[in-house]
Amino acid sequence: MNRSVFITGGNRGIGRAIAEAMMAEGDHVAVTCRSGEPPAGALGVNCDITAPEDIEAAFKLIEEKHGPVEVLIANAGITRDALLVRMAEEDFTTVLDTNLTGTYRVAKRAMRGMLRSRYGRMVFISSAGALRGEPGQANYAAAKAGLIGLARSLTRECGARGITFNVVAPGLVATDMTAALPEARLEQIMKEVPAGRIAEPKDIAAAVRFLASDEASYITGEVLRVDGGVGMGH
Ligand code: NDP
Repeated sequence: MNRSVFITGGNRGIGRAIAEAMMAEGDHVAVTCRSGEPPAGALGVNCDITAPEDIEAAFKLIEEKHGPVEVLIANAGITRDALLVRMAEEDFTTVLDTNLTGTYRVAKRAMRGMLRSRYGRMVFISSAGALRGEPGQANYAAAKAGLIGLARSLTRECGARGITFNVVAPGLVATDMTAALPEARLEQIMKEVPAGRIAEPKDIAAAVRFLASDEASYITGEVLRVDGGVGMGH
């Protein structure tokens, strides 16, 4: 579609699959890339979303190469799991700073151009854990639930300006993040998934691509679970 798309964490995992799906539509895609290589055809920008100066530099480079960001996918995220009684304050604040404040930072910077052109798509990658809660993930679930409040508030602020704000809440997806989980924990989670399988990154990318499309122009403030049913009813 020839749009300027920016995907945080688009160098690996779910973000990389989203980058590939958007490039297949003809969009010009930029991804943050602190490690490894960007997917072929994408512009890699070395940007830490906890560093405001990195974000400013990334947007300037993208604007120069692809034009103002029209589609923002806030996907970068981390986990620092621990039961609350053992969770250090730094584990809590670091996860909030990356997963929630990092999204605030890129959304705020992207908003300028979107307001000017009266067009934009923002999709925030949350988690089924935001809706269900997960033991050992109080920090992560709080940050991911915060993304819902963020998207819905922005929807009320800017809904009439041609910009949509949606949230995708994946269940378990086969990436580096889940490869770090102990086998026993994975098996336990799998038992709860009605679809009976873990998702592939492309399952999430398909939903994101749709929410970012022109056909989805009347869908905003929505939370779309892509979780094989594990978060049903939440
Ligand atoms: P990965 O661990 O495979 O990749 C994480 C991505 O986030 C990497 O690209 C990483 O970049 C980037 N990232 C992390 N911190 C920063 C930072 N400070 N600045 C810039 N980039 C950063 O994760 P997934 O692909 O599995 O997850 C993607 C998103 O989906 C995350 O938000 C995650 O919480 C969410 N999610 C994942 C699920 C799963 O089961 N996998 C389930 C539900 C939600 P770098 O390579 O530079 O470190």
